[in-house]
Amino acid sequence: MQLAFSPAEARIRDEIRAFLTDAMPPPSSAISEDGWISGFSPEFSRRMGAAGWIGMTWPREYGGGERSYVERAIVTEELLRAGAPTAAHWTGDRQIGPSLLAHGSEEQKREILSRIVRGELVFCLGMSEPGAGSDLAALQTRAVEDGDAFVVDGQKVWTSLASHAHYCYLVARTDPDAPRHRGISELLVDMSLPGITVRPLVDMTGEHHFNEVFFESVRVPRRWLIGEKNHGWFQIASQLDYERAGMERLLSYAPLFRELEAHLRATGRTRDPLVRQMLARFHGELAVGRLLLYRIAWNLSQGITPTAETALAKLYGTELEQRLVRFAGEMLGDLALLTSGGGPLATHTARAILNAPGLTIRGGTVEILRNIVAQRGLGLPRD
Ligand SMILES: Cc1cc2nc3c(=O)[nH]c(=O)nc-3n(C[C@H](O)[C@H](O)[C@H](O)COP(=O)(O)OP(=O)(O)OC[C@H]3O[C@@H](n4cnc5c(N)ncnc54)[C@H](O)[C@@H]3O)c2cc1C
Repeated sequence: MQLAFSPAEARIRDEIRAFLTDAMPPPSSAISEDGWISGFSPEFSRRMGAAGWIGMTWPREYGGGERSYVERAIVTEELLRAGAPTAAHWTGDRQIGPSLLAHGSEEQKREILSRIVRGELVFCLGMSEPGAGSDLAALQTRAVEDGDAFVVDGQKVWTSLASHAHYCYLVARTDPDAPRHRGISELLVDMSLPGITVRPLVDMTGEHHFNEVFFESVRVPRRWLIGEKNHGWFQIASQLDYERAGMERLLSYAPLFRELEAHLRATGRTRDPLVRQMLARFHGELAVGRLLLYRIAWNLSQGITPTAETALAKLYGTELEQRLVRFAGEMLGDLALLTSGGGPLATHTARAILNAPGLTIRGGTVEILRNIVAQRGLGLPRD
């Protein structure tokens, strides 16, 4: 068994590091953690696109790089470790592209994929609603077929990046009379269409990245139906595997951890055996999470989407990150209360403390993920 990276994979790591040395915005006390959702920089995304780092696994005929998922995981690992501002292209690259490749029409692939690859398009995910989160099949947003269009009415909530998005990947009910999992479809909705209103939601950090989105008689041309009408539920399932299986579920706070460790070494706190033990423990746990995510990437390269493993990786990684943030808070003490004025490490820690509760909610709560591991992974009964 060979557990090392191949020479080609090692080369990719060198190449993305060299790219980041050149392309990263200058260091500042601004946000570097959670950069795949909070670091919005269309310029950086276009540079990523021009360098071939978006759509890495996709076929060349759509602008992709035909690389493996392991190579893509190497690139995303380096981006997250550097705290790169990748939010403008992350969702398109991670799940919209793969979804269109699996279910989209030829016209949709031709029109959208190459623009994602160039880092030009921002997407939001219109899934959750006020009465439908974990229980997504309870969604009420309706899309009624009318001639050559679907007329969409309803409300989405917690929609990350909707205020910047060019398109919304919308999940809506297209057959209200069918059993609830069977009457759902996916539509790609141009966010500039009349009838769409985006209202910002400011989170505990004082920042705004997610939103409420209202649809009032929005006419979406029929050609933007993704895959089969009323078959959306089964398409979403594979999209969620991509959403949950990435390095971002383990390394959103990698820059903070690095900063914290450097601080503890520099201030001599690592002479405290309890601090040493905690650091060693985190390094061990991070190594386990990393192996799990590379194993999933390897499986994806073989065409296998391991639903129970992706659920396990997300819940393991996000709970670990929350423990890391708590540890940073304990180490900094009162300083961790200062969102400004206490120096970069204090600012990052204070922000992380306010931001971290969302880690185990977004993309599926830990309780739901445990249910998936129990039922799909361990074969345990539902009741
Ligand atoms: C930072 C952030 C970004 C987000 N971005 C997006 C986005 O871009 N697009 C989008 O569509 N949504 C987004 N969401 C919404 C997210 O997907 C939902 O919040 C999540 O799925 C949970 O749904 P809910 O909030 O309605 O909670 P509920 O589903 O009401 O759950 C409440 C509690 O009950 C528990 N629970 C529910 N059902 C069960 C069960 N069967 N068994 C055990 N426990 C259960 C849950 O685990 C949770 O603890 C985002 C959320 C956050 C925090």
